[in-house]
Amino acid sequence: MRQSSLFSTTRREAPRDETSRNAQLLIRAGFVHKELAGVYSFLPLGWRVLRNIMQIIREEMDAIGGQEVHLSALQSRSLWEQTDRWSDEEVDIWFKTSLNAGGEAGLAPTHEEPITAIMREHISSYRDLPQLPYQIQLKFRNELRARSGLMRGREFYMKDMYTFARTQQEHEELYERVKRAYFTIFQRIGIGDRTYLTFASGGIFSQYSHEFQTVAEVGEDTIYLDREKGIAVNKEVFTDAVLADLGLERERLEEVRAVEVGNIFSLGTRFSEALQCTFRDQDGTLKYPVMGCYGIGPNRLMGLVAELFSDDRGLVWPSSIAPFAVHLISLSTEASVQETAATIYRDLQSHGIEVLWDDRTEASVGEKLADADLIGIPVQIRVGPKSLAERRAEIVQRKGGTPQYVPIGELIPAVEALV
Ligand code: ATP
Ligand code: MG
Repeated sequence: MRQSSLFSTTRREAPRDETSRNAQLLIRAGFVHKELAGVYSFLPLGWRVLRNIMQIIREEMDAIGGQEVHLSALQSRSLWEQTDRWSDEEVDIWFKTSLNAGGEAGLAPTHEEPITAIMREHISSYRDLPQLPYQIQLKFRNELRARSGLMRGREFYMKDMYTFARTQQEHEELYERVKRAYFTIFQRIGIGDRTYLTFASGGIFSQYSHEFQTVAEVGEDTIYLDREKGIAVNKEVFTDAVLADLGLERERLEEVRAVEVGNIFSLGTRFSEALQCTFRDQDGTLKYPVMGCYGIGPNRLMGLVAELFSDDRGLVWPSSIAPFAVHLISLSTEASVQETAATIYRDLQSHGIEVLWDDRTEASVGEKLADADLIGIPVQIRVGPKSLAERRAEIVQRKGGTPQYVPIGELIPAVEALV
């Protein structure tokens, strides 16, 4: 893409009412637009990042047998009344509206009810199980406090998978499978080394749920971490009894702030019973599938990465989710420079390397370099009259390190080694 045709622009100042660092950076870099507190629109660069995150999640869900679906965001009152989750006393973050034709509908804060109602119509025999439907869909939650930018939205994407198993044992196998896939996802996004399986409150059907908590100052959660064992306990269940149960010693635990990037739950038969989703087992008896649910927040991940990987000049994207692999920057409007840059641009594209080319003629060199640092594409190729005189271009990694002066003809392998 040519930057001269990109409609989004960078800005020096974020809106004054925006207090979170991730949203400030993302607004200044032109990745998102703030609609209202906790509600953001995604502009071309931001949407590319969010899509990259979603794609990693999608690939890992597909790899463990997930089947992608897309459930409606608008939900019927009667369905949620069957599980006692329509009333505002039970679920206090609903966005609800009355329908002109009469009755009420709500914007889904989660999707256990609709997926179970759908499965009820499609599974009948033990042969139909197990199933692992998932979606990447908007959720709506009327959160009281939305001060963490993309990390706590009132409208946000969630990848939610639901598993339907024949037995508790089969459920546990699926649960472990999804858990492993989650670690692969966080590894690929670049936060694997600071994300820990964390024991949290479980609900009715299991003692614990498992959170995936990423250690970060900006986190809203407090966890107690055993670095050696690689597991943590959320403050909400931090008691001597729980520590004993998990074989953890209080003295070895470190209290740290963390961001919950994912959460997985065993649901037992709470939803399948309430909504009468059954299957006939091999022995002829009618049973309820044992369910699990598994959430990850792409928006929260994007906000977190912006917080963790940024410096005083701007964003520093990991290459796996960066909006482009390479930022090509013409440092002069001289014809020879623009022509060489155009050749490099086409060459990168023909090698399948995604490139944003700053071909703008009105911006100064200083502005271009400042914008590139703010936008945070991991590899910059700078083409200017000086290096061009030696038939070279400069490769600079956004995260730092010594710049390389590479002969123009050797740029592709040099870039490929970095991305
Ligand atoms: P939290 O404890 O942070 O309020 P939750 O426990 O209600 O979140 P779940 O319902 O388990 O969250 O949602 C699954 C995942 O969706 C979370 O792990 C998180 O990554 C993401 N998520 C939840 N709420 C939000 C939100 N308001 N904005 C962005 N992402 C969210
Ligand atoms: Mg939670």
